[in-house]
Amino acid sequence: MTARIVIIGGGQAGGWAAKTLRDEGFRGEIAVVADEPWDFYERPPLSKSALLEPDAALPRLFSAEMQQALDLRWYRPLRAEAIDRVAKNVLLSNGERLAYDQLLIATGGQARLPNAAWRQHPQVYTLRNWQDAQRLKACLAGTQRLAIVGGGWIGLEIAASARRSGVAVSLFEQQPALCMRSVNADVSAALHQLHREQGVDIRCGCGALELEDEGGRPVIQCDGQREPFDAVVVGIGVELNLALAQQAGLAIGRGIVVDAQGRTSDAAIFAAGDVAQHPRYGISLQSWAFAQNQAIATARAMLNEAAPGYDDIPWLWSDQYQHNIQILGVPQPGSRSQIRQTPQGNLYFSLGTDGVLNQLVAFNDARTVKLAKRWMATGRDLSQVPLEDPAFSLMTLR
Ligand code: NAP
Repeated sequence: MTARIVIIGGGQAGGWAAKTLRDEGFRGEIAVVADEPWDFYERPPLSKSALLEPDAALPRLFSAEMQQALDLRWYRPLRAEAIDRVAKNVLLSNGERLAYDQLLIATGGQARLPNAAWRQHPQVYTLRNWQDAQRLKACLAGTQRLAIVGGGWIGLEIAASARRSGVAVSLFEQQPALCMRSVNADVSAALHQLHREQGVDIRCGCGALELEDEGGRPVIQCDGQREPFDAVVVGIGVELNLALAQQAGLAIGRGIVVDAQGRTSDAAIFAAGDVAQHPRYGISLQSWAFAQNQAIATARAMLNEAAPGYDDIPWLWSDQYQHNIQILGVPQPGSRSQIRQTPQGNLYFSLGTDGVLNQLVAFNDARTVKLAKRWMATGRDLSQVPLEDPAFSLMTLR
């Protein structure tokens, strides 16, 4: 019987794993090593309500009572420095060695920056954790001109929050279109239009940017032009925290290689959340839903080898201005794009050559997303369906 499970990482995946272990009846010790001092919290509010609400509190993952009931042994704020797979222990930054019977690595990632000059400038911000959100919120209160570098989800959500706060925003994206890796060209164009209508000055295809300083103010140099700003937020993706897995000699691809049950190349070590490579798609899928549900599946498998593996269809959402945008699935090259225009917002379908939906992006339409999940799960051929015709009721395809 497993006596002690060590979880490295106090984020969404670590939190859901801990809760699931208890829900599934594990009565041994659960040790959580976390480099932040806070209890488990949600990240989606960090780019939205945490920036906009004057008294925003830590968006706890579980109530204080519920977390108390989990009976966790916290090691925080501390870092895990090394894993000894033979002796089965973890070396902590305070020199202590923590023995484990099973280990879960849920170390997430950290915000990327172009280079050290950006890291050192006092008016350059990133957004990854609660402390970053507090710092950025204080910054926005005194900022008139904000530059955002990176036109991915972080950049767009912060742009929406900054515009709501009346801040002028210029957004620099090196690709020719916004969110280009995660959605098709039609959706990128829709996001572009949405932000332009809200007054965001968008520069796609901006090339390499240089950061300079002018009396404490950041200056961005782009295509030979110098522009001063009050502050710069960088949202150009994430460096996964893979050092521990590398040092331990675990198999690594685009994240720690895991099977559908979250098991790494060492049968006693599991991985969950951003650092775990998606078992089906072979990518790091950095979404709230993956961090939660893959961690739940992994925790179940830690206790029961016969537990079903993780097989959810990728899903994420983004709230921008008055819109709820839901993204289901991953776009595949060669897909056919179809747009359905509706009064509450458009639906963007991407169909593979076999007629099966590989991605739906829905503006303000959770109902169709639910339906599409079923079409994708059953591999329904939609090639003959008039998806673009607003007179055709999609609900007839239930
Ligand atoms: P992201 O979604 O990967 O977008 C970063 C964008 O910045 C990419 O288009 C990237 O282009 C571009 N970029 C990279 N280097 C650049 C540079 N030097 N100058 C200008 N643009 C540059 O990453 P993110 O927005 O930072 O978000 C971090 C992670 O959190 C992502 O995995 C994201 O999905 C996740 N997240 C999810 C949500 C949500 O689910 N609602 C919200 C926030 C964040 P390349 O593709 O060429 O690198």
